[in-house]
Amino acid sequence: MSEKKYIESAEIICVGTELLMGHTLNTNSQFLAKELVSLGIPSYRQIVVGDNDERLAKQIQESAMRADLIILTGGLGPTTDDITMSVAAKVAGKELVFDEESYKNMSAYFRRLCRNMPKSNKKQAMLPENATIFANHNGTAPGAMFTTSAPTDEDPDRIVHLILLPGPPSETTLMFNSEVRPVLENMSEYTFTTKYVHLFEIGESEAAERIGDLIDNQTNPTIAPYAAEGECMFRITQRTLQGEKEEDLISPIIATMQERFGQNIYEIGTRSMKQVAFDLLLKNGKTVSFAESCTAGMVSSEFVDVPGASQVFMGAIVSYGNSIKTNVLGVSEDMLGSLGAVSRECAQEMAEGARKLLKTDIAISITGIAGPTGETEKKPVGLVYLAIADENGTEVKEIHLSGNRMRIRRVAVLHAFNLIRKRLS
Ligand code: ATP
Repeated sequence: MSEKKYIESAEIICVGTELLMGHTLNTNSQFLAKELVSLGIPSYRQIVVGDNDERLAKQIQESAMRADLIILTGGLGPTTDDITMSVAAKVAGKELVFDEESYKNMSAYFRRLCRNMPKSNKKQAMLPENATIFANHNGTAPGAMFTTSAPTDEDPDRIVHLILLPGPPSETTLMFNSEVRPVLENMSEYTFTTKYVHLFEIGESEAAERIGDLIDNQTNPTIAPYAAEGECMFRITQRTLQGEKEEDLISPIIATMQERFGQNIYEIGTRSMKQVAFDLLLKNGKTVSFAESCTAGMVSSEFVDVPGASQVFMGAIVSYGNSIKTNVLGVSEDMLGSLGAVSRECAQEMAEGARKLLKTDIAISITGIAGPTGETEKKPVGLVYLAIADENGTEVKEIHLSGNRMRIRRVAVLHAFNLIRKRLS
């Protein structure tokens, strides 16, 4: 079979009757189109097809006559109307075979959610023979990449690449970024340099608006915003034709971002917030302790994920009940009686108490209402106070978080690390 050195054209096919009926906005097409631009792969058509075997098969065959690469999303689920994998495999003349590893990943996914795996999910582990399999870290359906032959008069041995991705956008984007993009980078006629800019305390849409002029004018480098839980990120990708000398086009963009975002940027690179906090503590020779109420140990547990945490982290008090706040941390009972445990004053006393008791340079406290119960008119679910105490005094921060109990606690953890970052940078 003859395979082009580089991919010269791509088409995107999104599968799902709900897309055709207008029930779901086709955000996967937009995402993939932007990604192909940043990879320097021209994409000439975006197509939507319903969950219909015949029409989908025809569409794949038709696209294969024009494009070197076809990316399909949707229809990889376990139900009978999820047909993409079987139809694409049939068009390519591949048998579906049971993939043990995908099945194990799926079982582990259900175990993590404490749910039994329905028998029907086994279908998602039936994948085309000899395909490259993409693991799904955010759901059950694995993705796949394989080839089909699409002979033309000029090239009777012509082959075309098919990439199949799950429909839910959170799964599509994660799988594309972590698994597919590196494969496509090797199939493009460009080389790539990528930098990541991580931001905190600013939402994705506000951040994108603030550099709207840069995003609107982008061709090379491309600037892609991503939202993660409680934070957002820009990926800046420069492409250079293979063999050409690479100019640095990324630094001026990062300089503009630094001007516009200032302290909101917590990392230019790939470090997590907790890693940044750890590195600053180590660099400044400071120790830290935590007094955790609503996060009940999550800050400590997250922090010790960082290798070497013991060099700076001394310990923590999970002061969930008021008696622990008063008896262990020395929080005033009168103050608790009048202002309550979720208050500026309580956060301050918790941090100061932990610092004294655990003898650290810095102590962080967290107290808040994670819900769904426990809110009052003045103290809604999502209200969290954090304090940082060190030799220069104590600073308290009030934040209002949205989402369910778990999200509120997880984002509060990020804010705790952010307090360390801001104090030390
Ligand atoms: P699952 O494994 O969850 O069944 P799947 O790969 O079979 O996923 P679909 O069943 O086709 O995917 O779609 C699942 C959901 O993902 C849809 O209800 C829709 O909300 C969303 N979705 C599918 N395709 C797109 C798309 N192109 N753009 C945005 N959202 C989409």
